[in-house]
Amino acid sequence: MFSDELSGPAIRQELLAAATMSPDDVAGVLRKSRLGPSDFSALISPSAAGHLEAMAQRAHALTVQRFGRTMQFFVPLYISNYCYNQCTYCGFSVGNRYPRRVLSDSEIISEAQLLRDRGFDQIVVLTGEAEDKAGTEYIAHAIRLLSPLFASISIEVQPMSQSDYSRVIEAGADGLVLFQETYDSEAYASYHLAGKKRHFSKRLDAVEAGASAGFYKLTLGALLGLTDWRFDAMALSHHLVYMQRHFWTLQYGISFPRIKDMVGDFQVNYPISDRELVQFIVAFRLCFPDISITMSTRESAQLRDKLLPLGVTHISAESNTAPGGYGGTSTEPQFEISDHRSLPEMISVVKHHGYEPVMRDWVKLV
Ligand code: SF4
Repeated sequence: MFSDELSGPAIRQELLAAATMSPDDVAGVLRKSRLGPSDFSALISPSAAGHLEAMAQRAHALTVQRFGRTMQFFVPLYISNYCYNQCTYCGFSVGNRYPRRVLSDSEIISEAQLLRDRGFDQIVVLTGEAEDKAGTEYIAHAIRLLSPLFASISIEVQPMSQSDYSRVIEAGADGLVLFQETYDSEAYASYHLAGKKRHFSKRLDAVEAGASAGFYKLTLGALLGLTDWRFDAMALSHHLVYMQRHFWTLQYGISFPRIKDMVGDFQVNYPISDRELVQFIVAFRLCFPDISITMSTRESAQLRDKLLPLGVTHISAESNTAPGGYGGTSTEPQFEISDHRSLPEMISVVKHHGYEPVMRDWVKLV
């Protein structure tokens, strides 16, 4: 299991070694015709920041080479905000008092139909973590309801066993999104104060359960702002390498949400600047040319427009992070989004950049 291989001290050693690299050392690495995971620490090093423009141009060229001038669209669909975990950074955290809801069958279909009518064909279904309110049975049932409406359905829900993931796949899901939040186990313990999510390794191991169950796509990620971004970037790169080695048939992707203001007064202790975010993205693109890279509406419209050509392959639009939010009968959102542009607006932005908007790249075999 990757949880047996992950070593915080070893990652810190790698980062320390990378921190001693000079700009010339990084230039030497960048002269290679082909970069790979062993170059990753150099590309996220402080000295690489001086080469950001060249790295960004190369990331753009590599993305166009691998993915063409395309940009895939998806939208999140929240179906429950019950959660028994206490995650200090999240609006759904159990201690936050506001009305909770689980969408009924008709509410799920009505939200889905709204999204379908707007033109979305790829969705991510999300819940909090509350087995008795929105457990495997409920999630699989929801996927079954949604399956006829969408070409691709990913889930971003509580970690499950391999057999439970298999049930969700049988119901019609093809993608699993599971972020470790932070790979720094000590920091993890300080943010996850109560509930099943406290178990760091159990969450990490669920990624392999999902891969074994047979998901087609797997999206990993870290919630940037919880610890030193370089630590989480390095650990995430190791996680990707491990997964690609052991489950080589899957398609992999990463996402890099940055923490935003939520219900409560969470303090971001490790803010990551826009420039550092660019370094994070282009380093992944240069060392992992074939992974998809997702950018959500957490980021501002201005920044999203700038990041579009630098390695991103998937974007969301018109997102609402509250169950029932699309129909206007919502409760508190999980977090506030920054980019409020509609799908037609985003499509014209994407076209303006010379990209073809893609609403589906996956057809279900029935
Ligand atoms: S991050 Fe997930 S598990 Fe934690 S409180 Fe929010 S919804 Fe629940």
